[in-house]
Amino acid sequence: MQGFIIKLTRVKEEDLIVTIISENNLTTLYRFYGARHSPINLGFKIDYEMEGSLKSTIPRMRDVLHLGFPWIVEYDRIRIWQQFIALFYPHLQHAEAIGSFYYDLLESTAQKWGGQNPKRLAIEAYVQLLEHEGRLHREMNCFFCDLPIENNIALIRSFLPAHQACSHTLAINQKGLRWLYDHTSTLFLDDNEIQRLWYVLSEGL
Ligand SMILES: [Zn+2]
Repeated sequence: MQGFIIKLTRVKEEDLIVTIISENNLTTLYRFYGARHSPINLGFKIDYEMEGSLKSTIPRMRDVLHLGFPWIVEYDRIRIWQQFIALFYPHLQHAEAIGSFYYDLLESTAQKWGGQNPKRLAIEAYVQLLEHEGRLHREMNCFFCDLPIENNIALIRSFLPAHQACSHTLAINQKGLRWLYDHTSTLFLDDNEIQRLWYVLSEGL
């Protein structure tokens, strides 16, 4: 099986509890420490086998192989990737069969991560996630006062739209935001807007 590690918890010295978004599921596995095992980390894509265990209700992970991306050696890219992928655990932890959407989204995003601005890619992926979950707010009415938003749009957590004056945060140009929603592209958003959207995203999915 293959999957992305979205959470690692160290238990008993060097053993690990590992939560993975695999091709169709959210899976939690137990990994016994072994000196010969290759090290794994948050955000890694791995190939692994799963086996039942008499000692534990959590299946064991074995035959782990790290499927590295070329950008894994670039500190900034791996750091932002880990920040991004860590958001999936609190979001999905109570879900069971999650289908292939999340795996496919991470896979397609990881493929592009080395060549483009990672914060832009994370924002574009997040918009796809909101769309998939039926949470993308295309109607621009303010979360706080419920009135329509005519000009620039401030976004708060979950990308809920708001007036700049109601939310007291940096507003995003409306054309750029609509382009993002319609084309999954941050082309018309400037770096300040990207920074703001990344900040909102990092509050939680
Ligand atoms: Zn308002």
